[in-house]
Amino acid sequence: MGRKSFFGALIICVIAWACSQNPITGRNQLNLVSEAELQSLAKQEYVQFLNENKVVNANSSRDAEMVRRVGSRIATAVTNYYNSQNLGGELAGYQWEYNLVNNPEANAWCMPGGKIVVYTGILPITQNEAALAAVVGHEVAHAVAKHGSERMSQGLIQQLGGVALGVALSNRSQETQALFNNLYGIGSQVGYTLPHSRNQELEADKLGLRYMALAGYNPREAVALWQRMKAQSNGSRPPEFISTHPAEDRRISQLNSIMEETIKNYYRPVK
Ligand SMILES: [Zn+2]
Repeated sequence: MGRKSFFGALIICVIAWACSQNPITGRNQLNLVSEAELQSLAKQEYVQFLNENKVVNANSSRDAEMVRRVGSRIATAVTNYYNSQNLGGELAGYQWEYNLVNNPEANAWCMPGGKIVVYTGILPITQNEAALAAVVGHEVAHAVAKHGSERMSQGLIQQLGGVALGVALSNRSQETQALFNNLYGIGSQVGYTLPHSRNQELEADKLGLRYMALAGYNPREAVALWQRMKAQSNGSRPPEFISTHPAEDRRISQLNSIMEETIKNYYRPVK
């Protein structure tokens, strides 16, 4: 076996070993970075992010209070849903946190372990609490469906190849940390965010719609939200949220195609 094909085989072995089926989505995922590792990175990066950004006080701001309320309702809905499917263990280590930061970018994210940030710049587009729940539900879906690990694994393979990959995974390397930050758009390379794949986006839309409905928010608001996002994306400053979330038309048509089923099976309006 030549040197090249040896490393090729090595990569395939690593990939086969690291593939696992996601119990909620049923899809096989590549997970070279463990959930525990990601949660530990997330904890550290979240604290740093909050220190370096202006966190809006939830005791004196109605918007920040709303972010906390939406976050906790979505978190409760997701936790209850996983428990009802006997999958509570999938959320082991989750310690949910919700913060609004003063930042003009239209963005939001949820790191593994339930660390949520909403940027004030997205509020003029969400406009109401249910649409904010659509954004948070979508980001939480990325986290609990373990899309971060999957995306980082693909990024590690692309960037490092076989040999360096082994080294990068054997200790908590700078490459892992840099990729992680890029995934959430908080890295030192400004403007570079590791995009999610189309599969992951459609999955996050579908699950996010379910979670907002379970949390008592009208899922129809998700469609209205994406229409507003689409209108903004034609403007001079497209939302950051859109740049990693392409193809609004396809997204809207998928949401419409699962709307009635989601409402029937999951929507429990809060009285
Ligand atoms: Zn997304």
